[in-house]
This record gives sequence, C-alpha cells and structure tokens, in this order.
Amino acid sequence: MLVLVINCGSSSVKYQLIETKSEDYLCTGMVERIGAVTSIVKHQIRDQKPVKETTVVDDHTQALKAIMDFILDKENKLVESSDDIKAVGHRVVHGGESFKDSVLIDDSVIEAIEHAIDLAPLHNPPNLRGIEAARKSLPDIPHVAVFDTAFHQSLSPEAYLYAIPNRMYRRYRIRKYGFHGTSHYYVSRRYYRLSGKGPKNTKLITCHLGNGSSMTAIKDGQSVDTTMGFTPLSGLIMGTRCGDIDPSILFYLVEKEELPLNSLHGLLNRHSGLLGMSGYAADMRDLIEEAKNGDRRCKQAIESFCYRIKQFAGSYFSVMNGCDAIIFTAGIGENAPDIRERSLSNMESLGVILDPDRNRDTENSGERLISSDKSRVDVYVIPTNEELVIAVDAAKIATASKQSPWI
Ligand code: ADP
Repeated sequence: MLVLVINCGSSSVKYQLIETKSEDYLCTGMVERIGAVTSIVKHQIRDQKPVKETTVVDDHTQALKAIMDFILDKENKLVESSDDIKAVGHRVVHGGESFKDSVLIDDSVIEAIEHAIDLAPLHNPPNLRGIEAARKSLPDIPHVAVFDTAFHQSLSPEAYLYAIPNRMYRRYRIRKYGFHGTSHYYVSRRYYRLSGKGPKNTKLITCHLGNGSSMTAIKDGQSVDTTMGFTPLSGLIMGTRCGDIDPSILFYLVEKEELPLNSLHGLLNRHSGLLGMSGYAADMRDLIEEAKNGDRRCKQAIESFCYRIKQFAGSYFSVMNGCDAIIFTAGIGENAPDIRERSLSNMESLGVILDPDRNRDTENSGERLISSDKSRVDVYVIPTNEELVIAVDAAKIATASKQSPWI
C-alpha cells in the first residue's frame, strides 16, 4: 500500500512516500523555512540525485501543495494519480494519556491532540496544522496519527510518577511520558526478527542516540521504563539539552544570575548538553574530532555522555532483572563506534562484551551484531526507521487489520 508520511515542525514539513509491502520509500523530502522570506523545498526520488529549489511557502497548506505537486508530477513517474495514495500517516509528538496506539484521525482525535497542547506547546500545534493541511489536500483517504509517546504508555505508575504531591499529577497530568517511542518500538521489533526470539520473556535496552537521545527498557515487547520524562529534556545528555540535573540548580541560578524563567528554558534546552559542556559544538562528529586534537572539554563532554548511558543501562538491567540485548540506533548510535565502546566498557560482570572488530567494521552500515561470541548479552546496531513504522501503522489502520507486521 502506498502511504504518505508527514512530520510537521513549526517551520518545516518532512515527508516520505512509502510502499509498505516492499518497505521502501519512493521519494522523500522536506519544505524548510515556511513563512520566511524565502523557503527551501527539497525532494529526492529513490536512487536519484536530490533536487532543491528556493521559493515562497507561506504556511503548511502551501507546503503540502508543493509536496503533492511534486508527487503528482507525471515526469517524476511516482504515481498515476492521487488515488494511488491510500493513507496518510502523521507523526504527532504528544498523545498525553489518551493514546496507547496509533489511531484513525477524526474530530475527537483532533480534540484530544489539542488537549495535549499544554504538554507539548512547541510540537503539537504544528502537528495539528499539518493534519489540517493534509486532510484538505487528500480529503478522501484515511489519515492516521502515530504518537511519539504511545509506546511508553505501558509504563507502570512506579516508573511514571514523580515524587511530588499527587494532586500535581491529577490536576496537571505531570508524569513521565517518554518520547522517541516509534524508534524504540521499531528497533525492538527488528531485533525480534533478526534474533528469532519473540518478545515474550525477552529483555532489551534500546539506545536512540541522536541530537535528542533516549534509552528504553523493553520487556515482553512493552516499554517498562525510559529516560525522557514529562518533556524530552530529561535523562541522557543530548546535543543541546541537559538531561537529568538536580532541580535545585534552577532556583540557585534564578537567584545568582537573576534569570527570568523563559531564559532558563533556553539555557537548559538550547545551550546545555554536549554544546554547553564542551563550549564548542553540539554535533558529536565535531566533538570527537576536537577531542582527538586534545581539547579537554570536548573529551569531558564525550566521557560524561557515555557515563550517563552506562548508568541507565545498569539501572535497566536491575529493573528488568537482566537483559538479553542492547541495541544502538540513530546518528550517534549507528555511526560512532568509540561512543558504543566507551558506554559499554567494563560491563563484563553483567555479561556485556563487545567485539572490537565487529564494532569498528565501517564497511557494514546495516543491521549488525557487534558483541563478542563470549558475551551473554547481544549487542546490535539497528538503523532506525520511524517513517516506516508510521507508514505501516497507517496502512494497518486504513485496512483495519489487527495483525502486527513486525513479528
Ligand atoms: P536527530 O535527532 O536530529 O534525528 P540524528 O539521529 O541524525 O539526529 O543524529 C545526529 C547526531 O549523530 C549528531 O550528533 C551527529 O554528529 C551524530 N553522527 C552522525 N554521524 C556520525 C559519525 N560518523 N560519528 C559520530 N557521530 C555521528
């Protein structure tokens, strides 16, 4: 089934046109700088060179039109007509406590996504604008919402409640939600396929390490704990986000630097993490390079990043009473052998032993085992594919099939 996958930010729309049977994309692209004086539109048909143009795109409706014009352009030989597209899958960041699964979008779903705007003020509004624009552009086919938070709705109260007065949870829904759910879900399902082990009694630790990073403990196919929390700010050290810190630091800073609340938000979200620690860059490739040149703060930022991964890995071993496999994914997880090695060093007592050659094999960029044959715990690199999860869920819901295609 041909599915259009859409991921809307406040000034961008990313898309992929995916054939769910072959699990391949036909074309992908994005519209950036929506609403700016000039916007950038990029498309790439599979196995062809990307094309890029600068134009004026005022809003998400015009962005959707630019995408549909490209897909329907006869010269591109992607589809005969819009009737070939059978469903649209939308990435929605926050589903609050309302959604444990992907859903067919109707007015009540829109209302529930609106209700979660409080919880994700930067993400849910553009997601809703994308849904509105796409429903206008393709009104006759099912539109499906796939939530970043849904996979983590299986957490138990001891994992998701914070130790603050319970009325804060009841009144304001303050709890751990977790994010990157589609990515953790995808790599866990690929592991079940690759290893031949089913989800039952299998314990996994999945590490999504990109600009934003999170880890998840998965038992019996379900998320039991995850590092991101009420927002994507907590847990691991990230490109520019601080991850876990003592909340008293905020009061201290307000007093010492007389910072208003909104600048604290910027400090912790955009100026902290690897960037803040190194004073040099948020991008792991730059940090590795500069650390090799002897920069001590870049080296420290990398060491702290890996230390935090090790800490959570140990915590998830005890939460699940063991672990069968650790899986690395996303930009850093897939491409940085040094980071994987440092994060899992000295964990022999837990049965984790990497194979240095497998870990450093740069020839192979696909799904691969990188642990030693002596390791009790499998360690895998599995490239993530969130768009495919969204497409497959949209296709499944569009055909009302209950069967999981992943196991
Ligand atoms: P996003 O969260 O924006 O989707 P990605 O998953 O693309 O992020 O990951 C981006 C991160 O991956 C950046 O820190 C980048 O430096 C890092 N990365 C990409 N390739 C490599 C590499 N070869 N070695 C180390 N880090 C890499």
